[in-house]
Amino acid sequence: MTEFAALVLAGGRGSRMGLDTPKQFLEYRGKPLFLWSALEFLRAGMPVTLVFSPEDLERAKEEAARFGEEIAETGQRLDFTVGGKERFESSFLGLQHLKEQGGCRYVLIHDAARPFVTAEVIGRAKDCVKEFGTAVAAVPSVDTVKIADEAGIVRETPDRNRVFIIQTPQAFGFSELFSAYEAMFSAPDRIFSVTDDSSVMERVKNAEIRLFRGDYANIKITTPEDLKYLQ
Ligand code: C5P
Repeated sequence: MTEFAALVLAGGRGSRMGLDTPKQFLEYRGKPLFLWSALEFLRAGMPVTLVFSPEDLERAKEEAARFGEEIAETGQRLDFTVGGKERFESSFLGLQHLKEQGGCRYVLIHDAARPFVTAEVIGRAKDCVKEFGTAVAAVPSVDTVKIADEAGIVRETPDRNRVFIIQTPQAFGFSELFSAYEAMFSAPDRIFSVTDDSSVMERVKNAEIRLFRGDYANIKITTPEDLKYLQ
């Protein structure tokens, strides 16, 4: 069985960006945004499955085909599958696709909207998940964080030394993450809106989630202000 495989999630429609084209197709230094991280995982020696919405799948394959030679040089397989309406649905559909392909020991899940992920960060994710079974990229928060209620009244100010900004990649044992998602989807009252994969492991399996050092430059291109990072 393959030791590592990556899922790169590109199934969002980029509503916060307000563009006609989903952000994962924006061109950055001659390549579509989604290919930057996918190539980095391929070069790290693992197969990659890209997850796209049904509307974008054909276009994604066509765009990737323009870089067929560069992909082939990595010696790894790039694959595509269809995602769902929410990020957590795209994750689970991607995991199901990986399972049909024979699965892997560890899976690394990454947001295609983070094109600046480096070989060093991927290397740390691999080391961490092998040692601890879970691995989540994180950077210490430089800002003070406050928890407010619906009315905007501050209810809590966590100690900043213990506040981390969570990124991707996030890595887990494949079968552990798969069964956590299965449990979440099989009990309707357990389907909650989760914004990252480690939350599923935390909430369904009460798993101990291990943070490793991410990178302040590993940002998620989200709003029109972020387009300046692509110039
Ligand atoms: O929703 P958010 O901006 O946090 O999305 C993070 C990543 O998840 C993006 O790369 C996006 O394309 C992907 N995504 C997905 N399927 C969805 C929603 C988001 O693959 N339904």
